[in-house]
Amino acid sequence: MDHFLYRDGQLHAEDVPLSVIADAVGTPVYVYSSATLLRHFRLFDEALDGLDHLVCFAMKSLSNLAVLKLLAGAGAGMDVVSGGEYARARAAGVPGERIVFSGVGKTADEMRAALKGGIRQFNVESEPELRRLSEVATGMSAVAPITLRVNPDVDARTHEKIATGKADTKFGIPISRAREVYAEAARLPGIEVVGIDVHIGSQLTDLAPFEAAYRRVAELTEVLRADGHRIDRLDLGGGLGIPYTASNEVPPLPTEYGALIKRTVGHLGCEVEIEPGRLISGNAGLLLTSVIYLKSGEARDFLILDGAMNDLIRPAMYDAWHDIVPVREPAPGVERAPYDIVGPVCETGDIFAKGRMMPPLSEGDLVAFRSAGAYGAVMASEYNSRPLVPEVLVQGDQFAVIRRRPTFDEMIARDTIPEWL
Ligand SMILES: *Cc1c(COP(=O)(O)O)cnc(C)c1O
Repeated sequence: MDHFLYRDGQLHAEDVPLSVIADAVGTPVYVYSSATLLRHFRLFDEALDGLDHLVCFAMKSLSNLAVLKLLAGAGAGMDVVSGGEYARARAAGVPGERIVFSGVGKTADEMRAALKGGIRQFNVESEPELRRLSEVATGMSAVAPITLRVNPDVDARTHEKIATGKADTKFGIPISRAREVYAEAARLPGIEVVGIDVHIGSQLTDLAPFEAAYRRVAELTEVLRADGHRIDRLDLGGGLGIPYTASNEVPPLPTEYGALIKRTVGHLGCEVEIEPGRLISGNAGLLLTSVIYLKSGEARDFLILDGAMNDLIRPAMYDAWHDIVPVREPAPGVERAPYDIVGPVCETGDIFAKGRMMPPLSEGDLVAFRSAGAYGAVMASEYNSRPLVPEVLVQGDQFAVIRRRPTFDEMIARDTIPEWL
């Protein structure tokens, strides 16, 4: 459920008509609903009631400072995957003990910054990383709390670019080698083993792969404990999918996911962390754009928008579907016609939808992409020298620009021309 509904013939974000935001900020622009973000976070938090737990928002899905502050204020921790994300989380006021650091390629500088600023744990993904972390920590006379990310070799049955739990991906340590690597971790100075981590992929619409992975983690917990390791904490990753369209199969609810966690690992007495991203931020945001032209082609008609693949790359990169809706509510039963919906970027791949049935639209009309809160603004670029898309946060009847659109001058000023040119 989200808080983007038609009211008085106009699509609103909570109590704010989207046309008001378009007039004030221009398009394209991302618009987020605070109520939706908080609602989704709380669903997870409540689903783990009764377990010692921390919900760490996977901020790579949406990392604006204002959003981080909102979620942290509700009790969220953060899952970060880079030094930049760590710095953002700290700048949003998230204490180090609520930040977990994931990712296959952490550098020594990133490790140092996190150890200095405070960190709940590093989720270590390889032996070379483990040795590097040991060197960095001992060099600082610090101790790095770690889990090892194990790769349980389960098929998440999702898009291949976002499946991470199969043996042939770059992620984690094969679960078959876990005992050996945990033994090395226990020997290394500056390293303190605190638990196990797993994350099998994104946009999962079925609980079975989670169940298989978490059962393997539960078995591994017993084995590692018998080997003498302290396994107090299980980080179970993120990945629960969202409905991108009403006609989609409905993904499991956080409550069902929570029940699965309790069933598979609840008996172990561990503190549980989860790292949802998309399910918190996805349906909490939309991309608001305007129609520039309606162009009739020989074989098909095109709707040319002022939003493009540089603003929302998911359709081009993952063949993702987004519901695309007019901001002015179409009359009931109005005739629809098929359009290829495209942006102005000079790439054939700059296409959002083919043959999408749309109600009548005119130049200047506003059109919104639903479910664009996750992996939307964070993946935006300035390709074609289109200034980075701005972001707006709505709360009730108020809204604020939380990242403004750079001017052309600001965009250009980041380049420098060498003196010798
Ligand atoms: C991307 C990622 C997540 C979040 O995935 P969602 O599908 O957005 O929930 C969580 N943990 C790790 C390690 C990730 O890489």
